[in-house]
Amino acid sequence: MTLPQYAYFKGEIVPYSEAKVGVLTHALNYGTAAFGGIRGYWNEEQEQLFLFRPLDNYERLLNSGKLLCSENTYTTEGLRNVTLELLRKEGLKEDCYIRPLLYKADEIIGVKLHDLTDEISIVVVPFGKYVQSDTGAHVTFSSWRRVDDNVIPARGKISGAYVNTAFVKTDAVRAGFDEALVLNNDGHLAEGSAENVFMLRDGKLVTPPVTDNILEGITRRTVIELAQKELGLDVIERSIDRTEVYLCDELFLTGTAVKITAVTRVDFRDVGTGEMGPITRQLREIYEDIVRGRNSKYAHWIEAVYESEPVAVK
Ligand code: PMP
Repeated sequence: MTLPQYAYFKGEIVPYSEAKVGVLTHALNYGTAAFGGIRGYWNEEQEQLFLFRPLDNYERLLNSGKLLCSENTYTTEGLRNVTLELLRKEGLKEDCYIRPLLYKADEIIGVKLHDLTDEISIVVVPFGKYVQSDTGAHVTFSSWRRVDDNVIPARGKISGAYVNTAFVKTDAVRAGFDEALVLNNDGHLAEGSAENVFMLRDGKLVTPPVTDNILEGITRRTVIELAQKELGLDVIERSIDRTEVYLCDELFLTGTAVKITAVTRVDFRDVGTGEMGPITRQLREIYEDIVRGRNSKYAHWIEAVYESEPVAVK
């Protein structure tokens, strides 16, 4: 991966090579950090880069910070503005990924959340596909369980919890699958390794509720709204059994990185016809138009990088 030229680090934009932390840093030792992930979509015709729902993303980051007893004074608007400033300095004219990290920066020994200094860093890197076979992924049910909200808050994007994700992903990929589905401790479907999940059954779109140890995904929220408003579908948030997935007509994963990825096989069983279904296809097309600034109805979800004026971060 090509490293960025710049980073937002300790309150200012600096050359990336200067954005360094010591090995004693609390977050590095104990996973006491939270991160975000925002995609930037390049529109060739308009020569414009669009951020998708940056304020919602920063709101989730600050909420994850709250769960970590963070006492920072950042605002979602301030973080969005510094992100725009960073992107303009980096000057990317291609699809990219913005990675904000809120971390416990103290270089001390001692596991806790309170009385520590919180910092936020932001970097941006060019970014293509996350799952290569996004029109026909083959997934497996992981033997790992999704981290429980009473173990590490599942609705927060908390760095330490991603060791769970790493176990899930590595075992799935080593076994030859594209991705994995993860059950929670109750045995219900929670989500993918780093994606929310939807199934179409009997003409209704079904997705696990936020109380089933899922991350409250921004793409999930987007897809629920689009399915209802654009396709007139009933969307039901309820617990899902493993074997319902084996019987459903369509299945897809949602996330900033995977966008809307069609799943066409689960544990060597075809989903529906074994090809991407019509609902998944339509949602993918609608989503792609929105994120690339081609659908004015949802222009409030996107932010043009090379137009608006940045202001101070705090
Ligand atoms: N679940 C997990 C565990 C994730 O890491 C992600 C990626 N952020 C998602 C779901 C999807 O969330 P979003 O749509 O906000 O990217």
